[in-house]
Amino acid sequence: MPKIPRLSAIIDHLLRQTKHPASVHIAVGELTSFTEEQIRSQWSTLINDTALAQTSLFIRMIPAEQQCMVCFQKYHPSNKETSCPRCGSVGAKIIAGEEFYLDSIKEENE
Ligand SMILES: [Zn+2]
Repeated sequence: MPKIPRLSAIIDHLLRQTKHPASVHIAVGELTSFTEEQIRSQWSTLINDTALAQTSLFIRMIPAEQQCMVCFQKYHPSNKETSCPRCGSVGAKIIAGEEFYLDSIKEENE
């Protein structure tokens, strides 16, 4: 299974804190090429036998969005397709979908 460096970095960061959260929410862009299942499975491996073993993980997927550099149309790239649905131009800027960050943590279960 491919390693997810940013997930390890988040876990290292959490383990350095004095308080360990009850739940962790992360945001993951659609273009990061990791599935929710892969992230969960890697999370369980990494937190096993650590202070985070009881912490629940919540994943929020962020849909990809691109903007055409010719006509400025914003669109969702389906199947990693990068041509503009309006003008057919292939030059596009990625606006969203490459995120992978710690969204929020909760100290205690409510
Ligand atoms: Zn266009």
